[in-house]
Amino acid sequence: MSIPLSQYRPVTRLRTVSHPVDRAKFPVLDIHTHFGPLVIGRDYDSKYDTGKVLEGLRRHGVQRLCNLELVWGSELERLERKLAGQEGTVYTFPSADLSGFELPGFEDSVRRTMETYRLAGYKGIKLWKDITLYQKDIRGRHIRLDDERLACIFSAAGENGLIVLIHIADPVAFFTPFDARNEYYECLAGNPEWLFYGEEFFSFEEHMRMQEAVLKRHPGTTFIIAHTGSCSEDLGFVSGLMDRYPNMYVDIAARINELGRQPYTARKFFIDHPDRILFGTDYIAGQAPEDLYPYYFRFLETFDEYFDYGPEEEAGSMGRWKIYGIGLPDDVLEKVYHLNAERLLKLSQIP
Ligand SMILES: [Zn+2]
Repeated sequence: MSIPLSQYRPVTRLRTVSHPVDRAKFPVLDIHTHFGPLVIGRDYDSKYDTGKVLEGLRRHGVQRLCNLELVWGSELERLERKLAGQEGTVYTFPSADLSGFELPGFEDSVRRTMETYRLAGYKGIKLWKDITLYQKDIRGRHIRLDDERLACIFSAAGENGLIVLIHIADPVAFFTPFDARNEYYECLAGNPEWLFYGEEFFSFEEHMRMQEAVLKRHPGTTFIIAHTGSCSEDLGFVSGLMDRYPNMYVDIAARINELGRQPYTARKFFIDHPDRILFGTDYIAGQAPEDLYPYYFRFLETFDEYFDYGPEEEAGSMGRWKIYGIGLPDDVLEKVYHLNAERLLKLSQIP
């Protein structure tokens, strides 16, 4: 008898102790959430009630969050209206229009935008993987992250005291052939547009070279590189970067599936860099918080073994494996949950 892989749903018979964590041990600032069009779509404002969403998050101990969006100008104003009254809880990281980067006047426009953000009290900007994976220049070629013409964004952000939170590349397997050896096979089968393998794309390794070039070129700019520094599959590599570039921080958004399958290495990573790792999830406004936060808390706070990194319907969707908790000590946990982010964002501590 044979069954398709997609129907294979083994139920573990393993019995070990389980410590569900519904509410974090310390107050939480989630550095990586989405409340606008980037993930939810243009009609995001009809999709959730801001007050109710934040109330739901507070029940799990999430007191503050950063909302990362590719918006500027009137779209940013619309988003701000949706979030009105939540200053001190929601910190939006807007972006800048990069589409004119080949035109004269681009640098001036970027500099004006960054200055406006500083004067308006924004803490940082969001840049996304689209720069190297989706956008193209006028010759129809993908754009290098370390393209000289984009450098003004990083320098102007730094000069205005704005953090750059950037998502670069994607899991390594998205850059490898889509075949029986691909460890994200089921994920890519469901989301074929996430496969970036082929001549036309920069390789994963090239992405890492571009990432390092930008960190090196802009020592005065603080970077939070999302998804564990773009390379949760190789924490030794990320550690090396963090050692070389004191301006580099990482969030762990959407990567407990990766971190939790290498619990010894992951625990050491947190303990070696307790001041440089930030709690983030990729929470999407309107999503049920109980489907997300308890999994992160259990991973960070307990030594539980072999558990799902998400609710049943998502378990296995980012790799057919389970995860292990890393039981972080309290001092590290508190830094990761909120102290590091508060220091970077220059906020008073959550009471
Ligand atoms: Zn995200």
